[in-house]
Amino acid sequence: MTSTVRTQVAIVGAGPAGLILSHLLAQSGIESVILDRRSREEIESTIRAGILEQDTVDLLASIPGSRAHTVGSRHDGIELRFDGVGHRIDFAGLVSRSVWLYPQHEALKDLLAARLAAGQDIRFRATAHAVEDIDSERPRIVARDDAGAELDVEADFVVGADGSRSVVRSALSGSHAGYFREYPFGWFGILTEAPPSADELIYSNSPDGFALISQRSETVQRMYFQCDPHMDADSMNDQQIWETLDRRVPGVELKKGPIFQKGVVPFRSFVARDLQRGRIAIVGDAAHTVPPTGAKGMNLAVADVVVLARALEALLGRSDSGPIDSFADEARKRIWKAQHFSWWMTSMLHQIPDASEYDRLRQLGELRSVVDSEHGRAYLAEAYTGWPMDLGAAIGSAAPASSAADLLTRRAS
Ligand SMILES: Cc1cc2nc3c(=O)[nH]c(=O)nc-3n(C[C@H](O)[C@H](O)[C@H](O)COP(=O)(O)OP(=O)(O)OC[C@H]3O[C@@H](n4cnc5c(N)ncnc54)[C@H](O)[C@@H]3O)c2cc1C
Repeated sequence: MTSTVRTQVAIVGAGPAGLILSHLLAQSGIESVILDRRSREEIESTIRAGILEQDTVDLLASIPGSRAHTVGSRHDGIELRFDGVGHRIDFAGLVSRSVWLYPQHEALKDLLAARLAAGQDIRFRATAHAVEDIDSERPRIVARDDAGAELDVEADFVVGADGSRSVVRSALSGSHAGYFREYPFGWFGILTEAPPSADELIYSNSPDGFALISQRSETVQRMYFQCDPHMDADSMNDQQIWETLDRRVPGVELKKGPIFQKGVVPFRSFVARDLQRGRIAIVGDAAHTVPPTGAKGMNLAVADVVVLARALEALLGRSDSGPIDSFADEARKRIWKAQHFSWWMTSMLHQIPDASEYDRLRQLGELRSVVDSEHGRAYLAEAYTGWPMDLGAAIGSAAPASSAADLLTRRAS
């Protein structure tokens, strides 16, 4: 038995990209159906991103029920640490912008609640297997639910927001058609029950390798250190983990507690060759991935859907195909800037396994040329807090104040 659903936009993936796209489309009166192979509980409990750009948070906070400003916390800077000394990059002072630490799974809880309350059709545990009729005016997703029943979703437009192993990308141009970079390291990540070791994130370069000290709440902290991407997370006990972190962040007394989650994330940079063809497009991790050092993945997914929603509104609302024809070129401008920033932060902060003494000393010279120069610090601050997204109608008058500068302006007026 195959059941068929018809809609204007069929979206594969209820991650940040798919859910925010459905919200923006609904604001323009465009109907969509979302399929996700996971259950709502699985989506809400997968721990990933934490650092959100200012415009990402402004968009999230404009969606009814968002807790971005109550549960999340604003960060006006980070510390770059090398040679045992910390150097603050003052985002608010340099570029009058900030970032927010708001866990991705909390944002997803807000988004799912808001979309379901608005009557959004979300099919959980429905896996897309193929996209058919891809060069027609009515492409179709072929999916199967948990019980094995076939589900076809026929639409005016199909969007792949289905993450790095995207089925929609494969239909568009083949799963490996694109530009790749592999890295000879990954991150070993932990969650620990302990108070924060610092008020802001510490990005630490040490001769032993990179470490990141991040925060989650008053009682739970997130920390990472550079590791072999193929290592087994269970091969290190708690004592070895803390010894590694202590060596990698010299001069900072880390607050330690029980480690209740650990895992290894491999690093990869990728941009798909084709982002759109006819009535199919891919966004977010389906279209590109970055190593997490620059905190760009989810932010880039949001930026993609802001551009795509505007193009779909023109195509489906006004029969204007101009914006969808230029969608890929428009999205690529930011994608490649974010690719560069993520690669730059990664290569500047990590130790390459076969690095020579020359490489190591050059890297310290690079770090010094950033922290010793206001222009160097400002470039990092501008890219990290995010290039403006032109949110316009996407947030309307609901735009909240999320930067230090906005808050000061509001207080003064
Ligand atoms: C350790 C770590 C730290 C990170 N930190 C940051 C950070 O600080 N800031 C930042 O911006 N980003 C960060 N990221 C990246 C961020 O998590 C991703 O870029 C983001 O999740 C991309 O969102 P998405 O909606 O494109 O894809 P996803 O979140 O991957 O969502 C895709 C969805 O599609 C579904 N799906 C997949 N295939 C199918 C199918 N065939 N049929 C139906 N459904 C399907 C999946 O179940 C999933 O729910 C981090 C990532 C990691 C791993």
